[in-house]
Amino acid sequence: MPTRPAPSPRATPPVVLITGASSGIGEATALALSERGAQVALVARRADRLREVAGRVGADALVIEADVTDQAQAERAIEQTVAEFGRLDTLVNNAGMMLLGPIENAPLEEWEQMVNINVKGLLYCAHAALPHLLTAAENSPREVADVVNISSVAGRTVRRGSGVYNLTKHGVGAFSESLRQEVTARHVRVSIIEPGAVDTELRTHNRPEVQAQMEKRFAEVEIMQAADIADAIAYIVTRPWRMSMNEILIRPTEQAD
Ligand code: NDP
Repeated sequence: MPTRPAPSPRATPPVVLITGASSGIGEATALALSERGAQVALVARRADRLREVAGRVGADALVIEADVTDQAQAERAIEQTVAEFGRLDTLVNNAGMMLLGPIENAPLEEWEQMVNINVKGLLYCAHAALPHLLTAAENSPREVADVVNISSVAGRTVRRGSGVYNLTKHGVGAFSESLRQEVTARHVRVSIIEPGAVDTELRTHNRPEVQAQMEKRFAEVEIMQAADIADAIAYIVTRPWRMSMNEILIRPTEQAD
């Protein structure tokens, strides 16, 4: 039996903040959720790209230029969203980097970039958003709020040449499960998505020799589109309040491992 009465009709659209909304999965998620009626705050460093996405999302999209590896900027992004829209119902913690290659002689700055964005950026946003999400779950017509953290197949399966990316995405999974246990009874749902290969800018930040190896690995595989992952995120956040999708692992059909 549900512990609360059935949710009342939605009076106002849900407010969603998406990090890394300037390209790839974040951009597709902004479009998918706004099509389903959400008000969206778009966060990333490239303001020109965010404005372009906002133009396609619609007039009320909020563009927030921020580097979420900086705790103050992450917090400001959350606070600006709440100041503008009045509350926060959903945080999509999507911003990330994947810089692959062997651990031996790896450029340390690549490890630092991944730890900073995949781990610290995600933590800063979750920390700043949590009080607002708890308030939304308590007071809003939906009676539920969501954190969707974007992990990866690399958060489940370890491979050679992926050590620090594996570390960061396993960390996302561990943190998400602990947070879920702490807040789920208060109607903040915590979910992780673990995509396999998706056609985005992600791999283009790698060194040429690493990119060549990735292209070889996926040469015979029809990889996924960002909209495929956005569709799964939209599914998660539009479930009835009583139902929490904790984890979704999504591989391209032709990706074996
Ligand atoms: P993209 O490179 O297209 O998107 C990454 C986004 O993160 C960009 O919008 C970028 O914006 C933003 N970003 C990076 N650094 C920062 C920062 N310091 N502050 C704010 N925003 C930042 O790649 P994807 O869409 O593929 O990646 C999204 C997520 O999906 C990542 O977490 C990735 O690990 C995960 N993922 C992707 C897979 C794939 O195959 N593509 C597979 C599995 C998981 P800007 O540069 O403007 O700041």
